[in-house]
Amino acid sequence: MDGTGLPEIRSTCPYCGVGCGVLLRPDGQGGMEVKGDPAHPANRGKLCSKGSQLGQTLGLDDRLMSPRIGARSAGWDEALDLVAERFGDTIAKHGPDSVALYVSGQLLTEDYYVANKLAKGYFGTANIDTNSRLCMASTVAGHKRAFGTDTVPGTYDDLEEADLIVLTGSNLAWCHPVLYQRIIAARKKRGTKLVVIDPRRTASCDGADLHLAVAPGGDVALFNGLLNEVSLRGKIDHAFAENVTGLEEALVSAAGDDLSATGLGEAELRAFFDLWCGTEKVVTVFSQGVNQSTSGTDKVNAILNCHLATGRIGRVGMGPFSVTGQPNAMGGREVGGLANMLTCHLDLENAEHRATVQDFWTSPEMPEAAGLKAVDMFRAVGEGNIKALWIIHTNPAVSMPDADRVRDAIAGCDFVVVSDVTDRTDTARLADVLLPAAAWGEKSGTVTNSDRTISRQRAALPPPGEARPDWEIIAEVGRRMGWGAAFDFQSPAEIFREYAALSGLAARFGRDFDISALAELSDAEYDALAPVRWPVSATRSGGRFFGDGRFFTPDGKARMVPVSHRAPVSGLSDARPFRFNTGRVRDQWHTMTRTAKSPRLSAHLPEPFLEIHPKDARALGLKPAALVRVANDHGAAILRALVTDAVRPGQVFAPMHWTGETAPSARVDALVPGHVDPVSGQPESKAATVSVEPFEAA
Ligand code: SF4
Repeated sequence: MDGTGLPEIRSTCPYCGVGCGVLLRPDGQGGMEVKGDPAHPANRGKLCSKGSQLGQTLGLDDRLMSPRIGARSAGWDEALDLVAERFGDTIAKHGPDSVALYVSGQLLTEDYYVANKLAKGYFGTANIDTNSRLCMASTVAGHKRAFGTDTVPGTYDDLEEADLIVLTGSNLAWCHPVLYQRIIAARKKRGTKLVVIDPRRTASCDGADLHLAVAPGGDVALFNGLLNEVSLRGKIDHAFAENVTGLEEALVSAAGDDLSATGLGEAELRAFFDLWCGTEKVVTVFSQGVNQSTSGTDKVNAILNCHLATGRIGRVGMGPFSVTGQPNAMGGREVGGLANMLTCHLDLENAEHRATVQDFWTSPEMPEAAGLKAVDMFRAVGEGNIKALWIIHTNPAVSMPDADRVRDAIAGCDFVVVSDVTDRTDTARLADVLLPAAAWGEKSGTVTNSDRTISRQRAALPPPGEARPDWEIIAEVGRRMGWGAAFDFQSPAEIFREYAALSGLAARFGRDFDISALAELSDAEYDALAPVRWPVSATRSGGRFFGDGRFFTPDGKARMVPVSHRAPVSGLSDARPFRFNTGRVRDQWHTMTRTAKSPRLSAHLPEPFLEIHPKDARALGLKPAALVRVANDHGAAILRALVTDAVRPGQVFAPMHWTGETAPSARVDALVPGHVDPVSGQPESKAATVSVEPFEAA
């Protein structure tokens, strides 16, 4: 309580994977003050521009207030009965794999768990995938190949204890600002060196000791070059290497790669290798620039190989560190929220794991093989093989690669359900049934941030109109399909307890994820749960993984994976001479359904743009701030040219936030082909090829 007599509520920010704690103070009139939570270990009271403007984004003007069937309002009973009937009929007629769910890293862990239980345990299909596939699936696959499980070895504290931080494929200053500020503060204190590896000069390069403008797709060659240097300079940690297999094979692959693929000069490479080899406490932070690639998994393993070969992992101030884009991408991974995973870091294709979950859920049917990953899922929708689709809290009609085809596929699907907070997304407009969901600030549950810290999100406002929490909507459909006992949840606390108990069973298989010590929390204890880093069991709590040399593979050893450079799939040509990179800006989030409500956030960069080098702008005869048409075989967009040497000649960059609602001609993901990494299924969102020409209005 403060002087106003209104309660202060602890929660977490709904944006990025840093997972900052916030203090919410409702004003009693639908608004609330939002401040950083000094007690939260991720941010210690700090917030970035997006987090601090959360109070400006609460307006109800665009909210979906009641269920809709087609263009008309409907009651919950009618809408849920229809969803249950159509999914049930479709499964009965065409089999379980004729239905699919496409969900989101915006979901709370409890929502994610119930959605996975419904799809995998009761529909009997693994066709449930998430927009996190576009974000960090390559990291999941790389972790599993190297460690046996999808384990983030270190913690945020390592970023403050390191002597060298390498940011690769990560504009941390804009995309994870509070974490970046922690690094800057640590640099001042201990003189930490900072290297940024990115084809563009971004805000994260300001003040960096070294910026390596690596050629798009050149990361494997660069880290292979580093591994080679590690070996040549006698920096292999042979004692730690006893816990690792594949060292010789990885070294042979590394030696075979050509450093020219990095596009970097000898002096730059030497400076990087000197810094890395000469510093023991190194953290390599990586994000979408690594993951969103057709060789994303290999890039991840190239990075992990360098840390495994030197034993720089799981010790104070050392390790590879993946940062996730979304607030609950990690929670989604924990509940098996991807089409090729099972809950609690178990493997869907392992019969023993499957049987354990099936027994626990008392489920009638479980899929034995991986389901369709996001890109393939929407292809199957377009081909008519998915006949009933439920999209929850995400906007694939603009955010999927090949967005125009995805939009058309959804439009042509027999039955589409969309759960969202608004009816104004491009995807919501295509729904047969629209279900109003509670938004951030109105719902309760947990999220997990990039360093495995589980935090509570708490409701501070009532959901408007008839909006309901997602777990409740999904469980209602399960009950209406005849599975009442399995979906008889009365609260998020009950779901959390079930899921924590299951993690204890999963741990018997030597899995990393174990929160069984939280399985007996009372409702009051769950309500009061303070941020806690997993594992949380009788034998383990918090800490780092792998410093002891024990991994989660059958023989307990890590795997170094031999990898080699592969160029991006889209080739440059006379018709498409520019390499097209996409990404985020500091003050917008995804397709802007929340951030666009804040005038202050929208003032930062008010319209979509295309960064283009001055030489290229001159060659095209572009005047400053001219409109350009960017195009390839997949789509086209009209953007404002931003002439800057932050991009290299021959490369262009556009942010992906603007959509059909905010800028109908700027559908940037329509230009991204659906080429995917063969292991992770993650699309190559940063290396399309395009033409650029001055735009002349007809
Ligand atoms: Fe929110 Fe991320 Fe900013 Fe923290 S850094 S306030 S989690 S957007």
